[in-house]
Amino acid sequence: MFEKILLIPAFKDNYIWLLVRDGRAAVVDPGDPLPVMERLEALGLQLETILITHHHADHQGGIAALLEHWQADVFGPGIESITGCNRPLCGGETITVLGQPVSVMAVPGHTLGHLAFYVPGALFCGDTLFGAGCGRLFEGTPAQMSHSLAQIAALPDDTLVYCAHEYTEANLRFAIAVEPLNAALQDRVKRVAELRATGTSSVPSTLSEEKATNPFLRSGEPAVIAAALEHAAVDRSKVAVFTAIRQWRNSF
Ligand code: ZN
Ligand code: FE
Repeated sequence: MFEKILLIPAFKDNYIWLLVRDGRAAVVDPGDPLPVMERLEALGLQLETILITHHHADHQGGIAALLEHWQADVFGPGIESITGCNRPLCGGETITVLGQPVSVMAVPGHTLGHLAFYVPGALFCGDTLFGAGCGRLFEGTPAQMSHSLAQIAALPDDTLVYCAHEYTEANLRFAIAVEPLNAALQDRVKRVAELRATGTSSVPSTLSEEKATNPFLRSGEPAVIAAALEHAAVDRSKVAVFTAIRQWRNSF
């Protein structure tokens, strides 16, 4: 595991993750280079590796500026257009980041080449899984996203989920509409409201917390199936339930 995983807020609600080990640094999804460079300088760190989950500008926009200052390996989805990506990946690889083995997962759905980076204890999942929610399906199909989320759900329960946006509060408003009687969800609504009232990040969460409260990881739960059937799910299959819940979320 890394010595430190630090949060760098960017734009309105993005989180850039800074991984630190032995005075060396890696950064996940540096959409904005300025706060990253400031933090690296303040901490006296050498940037060695850039990890990119997908091609959207708020995740890759800082690569060029960072490469002007640092000679870094840039890992990212090989099938997406990412300027400066010098280590293209397709998922299934094990890469070395600051001397640590990191597993690369293909998690298509939000985009077709979307990757997640997993080291035991931590998952960097970009815009695939969010606190109490999941990414919009800009490029992939509901079946692809449902499969990607199932792969994530199969990771150990104590995995910390480092997603790329602070969307949890809005996602919880939808989650509670899907499952108003879920006690773990009611509890999370209170805890997240307290965190956000003081400007504290609700990320990372644990995977066990997501499995208990995130409707997009709960397509097999009776209450979620019932809600999906009221919102045009074609049958009770996981993909049909996921599809209906995702469509409902789009217009919520
Ligand atoms: Zn995105
Ligand atoms: Fe994003």
